[in-house]
Amino acid sequence: MTDNPLLFAWNTPFGAPPFSQIKLEHFRPAFDAAIAQWRTEIAAIKSDPAPPSFDNTILALERAGRTLDRIERVFFHLVGIASSDEIEAIQLEIQPRLARENADVMLDEALFARVDAVHRGLASSGIDEEARRLVERRHLEFKRAGAGLADAKKQRLAKIAERLAGLGATFGQNVLGDEKAFLLLLESEADLAGLPASAVAAAARAAEERGHAGKWAITLSRSSVEPFLQFSARRDLREKVWRAFVTRGAGGGERDNAAVMSEIVALRAELAGILGYATFADFKLADTMAGAPPAALDLMNRVWTPARVAALDEADALQKMIAEEGGNFDLKPWDWRYYAEKRRQALHDFDESAIRAHLPLDNVIAAAFDVAHRLFALTFEERFDVDLPHADARAFEVKDADGRHVALFIGDYFARPEKHSGAWMSALRDQHRLDGDVKPIIINVVNAARGGEGAPALLSHDEARTLFHEFGHALHGMLSDVTYPYLSGTNVARDFVELPSQLYEHWLDRPEVLSKFARHYATGEPIADDLIARMTRARAYGQAHTTVEFLASAFTDMQAHGLGNADGVDVAALQEAELQRLGMPAAIVARHAAPHFQHVFSGDGYSAGYYSYLWSEVLDADAFEAFVESGDVFDPTLAERLKRFIYSAGGTKPPEALWQAFRGREPDVGALLRKRGFAA
Ligand SMILES: [Zn+2]
Repeated sequence: MTDNPLLFAWNTPFGAPPFSQIKLEHFRPAFDAAIAQWRTEIAAIKSDPAPPSFDNTILALERAGRTLDRIERVFFHLVGIASSDEIEAIQLEIQPRLARENADVMLDEALFARVDAVHRGLASSGIDEEARRLVERRHLEFKRAGAGLADAKKQRLAKIAERLAGLGATFGQNVLGDEKAFLLLLESEADLAGLPASAVAAAARAAEERGHAGKWAITLSRSSVEPFLQFSARRDLREKVWRAFVTRGAGGGERDNAAVMSEIVALRAELAGILGYATFADFKLADTMAGAPPAALDLMNRVWTPARVAALDEADALQKMIAEEGGNFDLKPWDWRYYAEKRRQALHDFDESAIRAHLPLDNVIAAAFDVAHRLFALTFEERFDVDLPHADARAFEVKDADGRHVALFIGDYFARPEKHSGAWMSALRDQHRLDGDVKPIIINVVNAARGGEGAPALLSHDEARTLFHEFGHALHGMLSDVTYPYLSGTNVARDFVELPSQLYEHWLDRPEVLSKFARHYATGEPIADDLIARMTRARAYGQAHTTVEFLASAFTDMQAHGLGNADGVDVAALQEAELQRLGMPAAIVARHAAPHFQHVFSGDGYSAGYYSYLWSEVLDADAFEAFVESGDVFDPTLAERLKRFIYSAGGTKPPEALWQAFRGREPDVGALLRKRGFAA
């Protein structure tokens, strides 16, 4: 154990984890030691003979478990980017165990009595605003975990938490298993009909990585599936890929998620009942900016109605296109993206692959950095002395206008078979000033397809937007300027946390950014002004489909988590019924069918919370209109307010207060409807 790198201070550049020295066999003993240490720290707080105070209780809680926190962050990062049977086995053990340990702390009456005492004395405590907020948040966390309830109920809650953690891990592994098990090999040129050069190159690369050099392969990563559905002229192959993609987690075999999600939903309903809430959705939303399910559903309905009408019109137009081509079939979900792409080109003379040719990955990264420079005066210098989690990853030191160190940023951009799909931001270390000035280490993971032989990786406009999105989250972590880790960075209400990320996407589409960075990968020519103009006009096109797809998942989430008693519920059937009730257009499916809806079932992050992307979009659209109204999308005064009240404030104030401080008024849904092209 003495040589276990997880248990010692990391004497490395920026104190970054020494990934090359960390082996999987280090995790079990490190978790054992760190959990034991955490228990000792908690026991010391409880047995302190001095009366409960902010320092000896709340601050002591902030200091407790720091080693465990550090190990968890490294471990779960590796789970995301380097899956293997071995790490999955450790995860299946450790995730429920961590949930159980955490529940033990949260349900400890003696500990809660101290926290409660500090909370009751808050009015006369004389501590500053951030410290008060910390006490409020800590106290609420205990209450929401069941502190103060009778013993039998608490024991049941702990059992439920542990079981849910295990089920969440199984759910995600089943989806990943189905993704790994599928490969569509394209054997001949005829199978490539319609695909642009970039998609062909990516498919060749994917085939080579899987031992089929000289052929082409489509995998179930979204970055492989979506371009294929958009461009492949082979209707039979589109259907094949689409079916595999939408039935992930629903294959009927040992990886089928039906029973897993049924149990998850039932346990969550039971948990909410024990805590005194009518449903799990009521429980979750009580601690959000929305506050309760009706506020979220009201927003969803306001957007659903015009989006559905627009999508039905679009379906008619696509069906007409099929008929005009002499096709004698009904528009199906595997046809939508293909004909929508054709129609978009016809209407807007807009070719997605022309955009892609102007979006080399490195340029998009540079653009994301440049926007941060123009808004927040940050600079980014690549470092080659950091021990990184994978050879693909890149490290950058981030500094402010005065050259002071702000953060270490790590980007890991390429899809790999052992990497989970999707894109995300995570913090290997949160910013705080608990005991000295701790600077953050922030990671972005995306799944870009590599370029073909000798060509750079090129991003679709969607993928470029995803990169900006995740970088917005990264800035929320990097610019954090708070005292307490518990309030740091992205530790904010779930329907507020997408504001910094979604807002950041707006800058990608600005001519001020595109004309500088969107350059053709081969010729270096900047993107033509009229291509930008056409892209801007075409942007509203496709919004109906995107919105309907998204809301279908969001409604399912609220429905499944809005049951008072969910014992034995068939979640897939429930989704089916909900889509029927909504009048879901026949040729569109939910963006995530329940059996692979990882946002809500792989963990607790977005359960009864998928709506929050839309909620945050009300905020981001409204916030960006402030910049547009000012006449300068880099307006320094607004940028300063944005940094102060949004990107660096973490959870130091309630989200509605931070919003008010930035915008000076309540959020207005009009900006969102205009952005999506649904405004009258
Ligand atoms: Zn996000």
